Amino acid sequence: MTDNIEIKSMIVSPAATNCYFFHLKGNIEAICVDPGDRGEDIANALEEEGLKLSAILLTHGHFDHILGVEALKRRFGAKVYAPKAEQRVLHDPALNLSGDWIGMPCTLDADEYLEDNAVIREAGFEIHMLLTPGHTEGGACFYLPAEGICFTGDTVFRASIGRTDLPTGNYEMLIDSIRSRIMPLPEDTVLLPGHEGTSVLEWEKLHNPYFRGDDEP
Ligand SMILES: [Zn+2]
Repeated sequence: MTDNIEIKSMIVSPAATNCYFFHLKGNIEAICVDPGDRGEDIANALEEEGLKLSAILLTHGHFDHILGVEALKRRFGAKVYAPKAEQRVLHDPALNLSGDWIGMPCTLDADEYLEDNAVIREAGFEIHMLLTPGHTEGGACFYLPAEGICFTGDTVFRASIGRTDLPTGNYEMLIDSIRSRIMPLPEDTVLLPGHEGTSVLEWEKLHNPYFRGDDEP
């Protein structure tokens, strides 16, 4: 990871989701990934740092990754990006789990829906969306090649992967996504997952059972 980038994280939502915000040193424009709840708190944290939010990236549509979007949009008018393949999940409380899990059925619309391999330019960054279905049907990772980091949402966790027993989940698809889209990235890529700790791709290749080719660890 290059040292020209500043990344902060906050743990939000009852599911303890990692919400990240990051910016280039010397640039007040910031990007937020998966504001899963507590939008006002995230907005305040950004303002305390003197930052302005220009974009919000959603790795997938589950409620614990999207509930803070509205407050952030109100405060900053930031543009919301999400994978096109995840539109159905974002639009359906039964699929995004907001109905059953928290009794607060909600839907969300992105400002721009991205195709696989789409490249976004925001806040001085070039961000590549890698479609990685399996945890949900249209989940994605956001890869910043110049900075050597990848926001993996609920696709890859440290030493584990996202669950595949929820609506639209598919285990074989998730394994295929990881092997075809994440494993080919440079070994020193820093992985920033949607839950729990951060990691490095090289470490995952050695220690994550799902990366090693064992089918069921
Ligand atoms: Zn999820």
